[in-house]
Amino acid sequence: MKKGFEPIPVITPDAAVHYGQKAYRFLAGILEKESIPHAILFTGIEGAGKRSAALSFAMACNCVSQDNPATDSGLRDSENRSLPVSDSFVRPCGVCKPCRKIKTGNHPDIHIVEPSGRYIRIDRIRDLLSSLDMRPYEAMRRFVIITNVQHMNAEAANSFLKMLEEPPERTFLILTAGQKSDLLPTIVSRCQHFHFNPIPNDCIEKMLIDTNRASGEKAKAISLAAGGAFSRAFELSDAGAFLKQTVRRDWLVENSGLGDAGSKKNLPLIFAFAEKISKNKDMLAEDLDILYMWLRDVLIGKYIPHKIINYDAAEKIRRLSVDEATDKLLSRIRAVESARRAILSNANPRLTVETMLIQFSKTG
Ligand SMILES: [Zn+2]
Repeated sequence: MKKGFEPIPVITPDAAVHYGQKAYRFLAGILEKESIPHAILFTGIEGAGKRSAALSFAMACNCVSQDNPATDSGLRDSENRSLPVSDSFVRPCGVCKPCRKIKTGNHPDIHIVEPSGRYIRIDRIRDLLSSLDMRPYEAMRRFVIITNVQHMNAEAANSFLKMLEEPPERTFLILTAGQKSDLLPTIVSRCQHFHFNPIPNDCIEKMLIDTNRASGEKAKAISLAAGGAFSRAFELSDAGAFLKQTVRRDWLVENSGLGDAGSKKNLPLIFAFAEKISKNKDMLAEDLDILYMWLRDVLIGKYIPHKIINYDAAEKIRRLSVDEATDKLLSRIRAVESARRAILSNANPRLTVETMLIQFSKTG
């Protein structure tokens, strides 16, 4: 297996159809017309299944099985209609030689380019271009999948544009990004675009159960915490990860004074805590998300308690919802939002956190 390559997660046919339904339909439409565009752009949040769909599509376009099980798979769409045969590429056979090679990251004609560190660098694009100079080794259709293409630096983007304008023979590009507006218009205009919506919670829950990653209340709690991202649900379902996240959340909530109604932290405690959590900027961004989701839950717990995301702490959240006033919660949510913005625009992390915590205690 190639270094850094993650195999496609196992998805049950049912869940695959549900979770990627629209994307798979879009791709099925392309296959039906038998004219594959030279470049496809997938946008959507991290973990919405863009990369899996790209790999499935590459498999479907190279699968040599005569007897594709999907033609008789009994797949159903959300309204329980049988899916037509043209949707068969939802399940390329997965066992023929090309399918297996693509699935394990060992196919010489399927190139996956991902950012290393912060950027996709020019060297990586140059390497790619020189390997595309040669004819495909064995694939009917060669694929280049570039993930998070917004991380291409200007130099890399320029040399990549040339390939996008004149793609080599039998070569197809699939690009993924957060949103269209992150990319150069010259890239977007050369691609057929498809947007992935976040995956519905019940699909994530079902997938966790079907793949034996979690069950019962835990599956429900993870699916809510995953925020529509399949990969995040997988991460959280790894042994201990969910527990670790809830322990971190409880620690943050307690020390920010958000765990009890009327709890007030004194200034020395606030400064000490701000120092602790502002050391690592990446982690701080995550911590602010955790606090935001907590406050959001307490607020919506007042009105629509079944929508609470921190499901494992639902009882405590409902209690807080009763005790805390709406205007207080809103002003705390605004404090987290302005902290998030400040961090994104490179403000001093420690001062930012201190300001936010003081705002919390003012409204305590
Ligand atoms: Zn196959």
